Amino acid sequence: MKLENPEDQIYVLERGNDAVHVMKSIILSGMKEDAFYVLDIGEIVRKYEEWKVKLPRVEPYYAVKCNDSQMVLEVLAALGTGFDCASKGEINKVLSLGVDPSRIIYANPAKPISHIRYASEYGIDTMTFDNEMELQKVKQFHPNAQLVIRIRCDAEVAQCQLGMKFGCDPITEAPRLLRLAKSLGLDVIGVSFHVGSGCGDPPVFGRAIYSARQIFDLGNSLGFHMRVLDLGGGYPGYTGYSMNRIAEIINISLDEYFPVEEGVSIIAEPGRYFVASAFTLATLIHSKRDILGDSESEVPSHTMYYINDGVYGSFNCIIYDHAVCTPIPFNILDSPDDFAYRETLIPSSVWGPTCDGLDKVNDDILLPEMPVGSWLIYRDMGAYTLPVASTFNGYPIPKVHAVIEEHVWMMLKDRLPLTGDHFIKDNSLQSVRNDSWDELPHMLDDYEDIIPYSSY
Ligand code: PLP
Repeated sequence: MKLENPEDQIYVLERGNDAVHVMKSIILSGMKEDAFYVLDIGEIVRKYEEWKVKLPRVEPYYAVKCNDSQMVLEVLAALGTGFDCASKGEINKVLSLGVDPSRIIYANPAKPISHIRYASEYGIDTMTFDNEMELQKVKQFHPNAQLVIRIRCDAEVAQCQLGMKFGCDPITEAPRLLRLAKSLGLDVIGVSFHVGSGCGDPPVFGRAIYSARQIFDLGNSLGFHMRVLDLGGGYPGYTGYSMNRIAEIINISLDEYFPVEEGVSIIAEPGRYFVASAFTLATLIHSKRDILGDSESEVPSHTMYYINDGVYGSFNCIIYDHAVCTPIPFNILDSPDDFAYRETLIPSSVWGPTCDGLDKVNDDILLPEMPVGSWLIYRDMGAYTLPVASTFNGYPIPKVHAVIEEHVWMMLKDRLPLTGDHFIKDNSLQSVRNDSWDELPHMLDDYEDIIPYSSY
């Protein structure tokens, strides 16, 4: 079978198989050299269901910037989320899926004029602002916009702080901006904030919601009909305590400051929450250098491994997103805590493939001794990785192989593709049923360089 573009395919999994099984099949085929991702679509669906249970009053508007893979956007659109877009390019991408403009918020408080015009032309009316000049621009180029004022409220602990760039001070700036909007005849419909990405301070959501309440009251008293509260992003990419705590605080604060009876529409802009855990990255060790303890020694004191993805590719998240990425050697994927391996761990570092010394993925970690041709697996690689990756030094951006469990596929398939055929290519989102996975090597060999690493 010829696969024209693996990124347009979904592999439907046999019962009992999972994304790791697919990754293993691809690796064990021995035919693949380039780094690649496996995207578990079921993980996105599970996150969506978890969101609905934990935050029943909050409509998620997925932050496209976090991972704009076509497959991710199509799945989320099929599930019915809205979208937070930061630019004309992102808006265009979401509209091309057939998403209604009313399900898009243009959530960038500093917008180029041509992008505001584009939004106006395509009916994207809801947009954020946090400064006077933005109001003047909107007045001129999209006077019918429905504006959301972004206020600042920073988490004390966050993976990436955003408050130094966006969000007006709710006390010293917001009142003046609301009065200016009124005098310009603009319509302000709500309040947004972003507490910081990867929030490690759940109570900040309570503080921000309280602050938003004050701005709502002021807006209503100035004659605006305040009706949208946007809780921004910041939710963790993994399931666990902090998401539970964040949800608990949000629900309590909403009930206190925005009771259901008031009819305010509550939205949020989660990014990493939906995609981080859905993507697993496989990288190949293509080179290796042993550093000997001293000139007499035969035993390396440190081993440097070179893999085929680095900080100019997926691992840009180490620099921009302050991510910590932990490698799992492929042969211990099933039992990473295996005691036998701990016995043989040696001080190591892992480097990306480019010629830049900055291109280091892991510093000073303990790894088992691995030959060239071994694979290192990195989990939770879906957030702020692919959209920022470059092909610096000629290394390709890893391809994504999407998989889905059969029951999830049955639920989603009639909703995909979402649009008429003028938006989605004919071959998009075909299901490739593959009972045994024995076919996989032949599929791969249609579009990959074949390097049989078993020959090492
Ligand atoms: N909304 C806005 C305006 C953002 O700038 C970001 C991230 O930078 C997000 C939402 C998504 O944040 P997160 O991935 O932390 O949920």
